[in-house]
Amino acid sequence: MLDRISRFFKRDKASHRSTGRRVFGDGEHSLSPEMINRDAFKVIDVLQKAGFEAYIVGGCVRDLLIGLKPKDFDVATSAKPWEVKELFRRSRIIGRRFQIVHVQFGREIIEVTTFRSNSSQTSGKNHRQQTDSGMLTRDNVFGSVEEDASRRDLTVNALYYDPSDNSIHDFTNGLDDIDDQIIRIIGDPETRFREDPVRLLRVARFAAKLGFNIDSDTANPMKHRAADLQQVSPPRLFDETLKLFMSGQGLDTFKLLVEHNLFDYIVPQLAPMLNDQQGIPMKLVSQALINTDKRIETSQRVTPAFIYAALLWPAVQRLARNYEKNGNSPPYALSKAAGEIIVNQIPVTAIPKRFTIPMREIWDLQLHLRRRGGTRAQRLVEHPRFRAAYDFVLLREQAGEDLGGLGEWWTAYQQADHENRQTMADEVMASDRGPKKRRRRRSGGKPAADPAR
Ligand code: ATP
Ligand code: MG
Repeated sequence: MLDRISRFFKRDKASHRSTGRRVFGDGEHSLSPEMINRDAFKVIDVLQKAGFEAYIVGGCVRDLLIGLKPKDFDVATSAKPWEVKELFRRSRIIGRRFQIVHVQFGREIIEVTTFRSNSSQTSGKNHRQQTDSGMLTRDNVFGSVEEDASRRDLTVNALYYDPSDNSIHDFTNGLDDIDDQIIRIIGDPETRFREDPVRLLRVARFAAKLGFNIDSDTANPMKHRAADLQQVSPPRLFDETLKLFMSGQGLDTFKLLVEHNLFDYIVPQLAPMLNDQQGIPMKLVSQALINTDKRIETSQRVTPAFIYAALLWPAVQRLARNYEKNGNSPPYALSKAAGEIIVNQIPVTAIPKRFTIPMREIWDLQLHLRRRGGTRAQRLVEHPRFRAAYDFVLLREQAGEDLGGLGEWWTAYQQADHENRQTMADEVMASDRGPKKRRRRRSGGKPAADPAR
């Protein structure tokens, strides 16, 4: 990656970090206007012709420079939201905390953001609000492009590309950092993390996504600012966790979250169980993320329900065991534990019902998949959540849980024809009956321990 950037990046690097605007023109970087999405190009053109400054900014400039495919093309401009709206017939202003304009082209939307300032001055109703701890709750003070660059999160995310003359405008030495593969917060890290604790997660996410190192001045305050994540609203934190775990670099991101104590504030019920590096919880979560990364790489579907089912399973299982010890039946113990663990997680990351319902089904099926004699197996295979529950059995076994060969049995069952399925189910029925009677005789009536629990 480094070679590729350096080859194109011809200008000598500044020997020290410079301040102010540096402009890199044609031949000094690897971008060209054809790389830019047509609609984003049109938006820039219309804004510039109307006399405003306009640039492509953020993740897409970064990704194009590195040779990755950008997710979307964002535009930053000196035009105010209502001025943008006036220029484009199919556009609307959205957001309150942070107003932006969505310009629609067919099914595609180009996000247009007005330059904002990080200044604490207030002006009219477009002001900036902070809590006592310094967290920003409203951020609508408009500013210059320089000010806009300085309020962004990372230097590599603050490059402005003008396709009209193929120039990159760099106010924070972001190009040097891309070249050196460094993730660096813009400004004073401590203050910037306090303003918006989600930036802690963004540092980890982009370091993992790009394979860059976190600069030490950025990394140092992360651990002791981690607790600020408790101030982030649960719905926003839920959305951010999806970006963390479903970006294709879930495992690397997870490792950085654990390293910087951030994970404690994402799934607090699991975090203490990860202290044992060789323990099953650590293996289960790592393996779930390895599997998710693989699925994303091969364009297979991934669902937050499965990931959260894995993240919370060790805690559910532990609590369920406690309830069983207190004399509750396994299904009741599991259901009660599942309910409680979810209730505890919602105030941290607000998992929507459309995911908690399938999570509970995946967990419930962990018990049902064991009881597979007679006609049960066939009915289970037809259960809408069977595939996820079966994958979950395999995951548990990969993590080192002993389920008595349950995954292998279900793999064989699915591959078998009708007749063989019948035989397999009958065999399970027979062995369920046989050993139980014998065990009961030996252990004085008490049922044998269930390896799948
Ligand atoms: P991705 O590829 O994930 O979309 P991105 O860099 O485009 O990466 P977005 O979340 O789409 O990330 O944000 C767009 C830009 O807005 C970022 O590049 C960054 O400049 C700025 N930004 C986003 N979130 C923050 C934040 N919490 N604090 C400061 N700036 C931010
Ligand atoms: Mg983006």
